[in-house]
Amino acid sequence: MNDMTHLDAPTSLLAQADWQHLEPIQLTPFVCRLTAPNPSVMTGPGTNSYIVGTADTGYIVIDPGPNDAEHIERLYDATAGDIVAIVCTHSHPDHSPAAKPLQALCRKSINSDPAIYGLPNGEGAELHSYFTPDKVLQNNEQLRLNSRRLEANLSYSLQAIHTPGHASNHVCLALLGCGILFSGDHILNGSTTVINPPDGHMGDYLASLDTLTQLCQQQNLNYILPAHGHVLPDALHVIAHLKAHRLGRDEKIAGVMAAYPDGSMDEWVRHAYDDVSPNLWPIAKRSLLAHVQHIQSKSKR
Ligand SMILES: [Zn+2]
Repeated sequence: MNDMTHLDAPTSLLAQADWQHLEPIQLTPFVCRLTAPNPSVMTGPGTNSYIVGTADTGYIVIDPGPNDAEHIERLYDATAGDIVAIVCTHSHPDHSPAAKPLQALCRKSINSDPAIYGLPNGEGAELHSYFTPDKVLQNNEQLRLNSRRLEANLSYSLQAIHTPGHASNHVCLALLGCGILFSGDHILNGSTTVINPPDGHMGDYLASLDTLTQLCQQQNLNYILPAHGHVLPDALHVIAHLKAHRLGRDEKIAGVMAAYPDGSMDEWVRHAYDDVSPNLWPIAKRSLLAHVQHIQSKSKR
């Protein structure tokens, strides 16, 4: 970033306005959040679509969300259709299906012709997560937003970082010079992200947390803007806590596996997630499988 003030509004970044889906919330002069109307156990208050940019630079939309006509229309209105790029952090059905219809809306009104960026789905992806971007994001590739005013020397860069684990085609994005990390589903606020094999992978997830730690240190990233929930301050602390939590669960599950070597997954989930409401055990069982595979692969080494 050149020539523009740094994040000048941590207070608005951290303001926890009630969730609503009609209007975007301005988090910084350069970043808005528009939450899709798809709240659920899995999506919390709904998927956060982030709109990066200004009327001067045009906009990049991160995670346009589910294929919800009203949400797509609101993204279009919030940007006046001036969208330079659409980026999907990964291809799950609450993140990427709006990309094509939003692109089509921009093309129809000839305001813009944004390419869809991301990574193609991995082989283990479920049918609802099949996805082919127009442009494949390379690791560390930067997307730029430049001022169109001749006299202004403004530009912002959004750097993509490959972070497999929650999904094999997951990327996070750093808004350089602004201290912001868009974490997609890799890091959430208010819940622990599900690692669902075979597309989800616990070893990859933990390694990606280390990648993000390094990135936050190198680029001075303080604020995590997740795809579900509020802004998380103190990025390094959040990541360290998350890693400790996962390793703690890994250890607990290894203990349960040793104590009940012939146990079924149902038995193991009961013991390993006894601190979690039984309502969540069906979901926890997916992450349990990821932990079990991780523990077994470590013991083979
Ligand atoms: Zn996801």
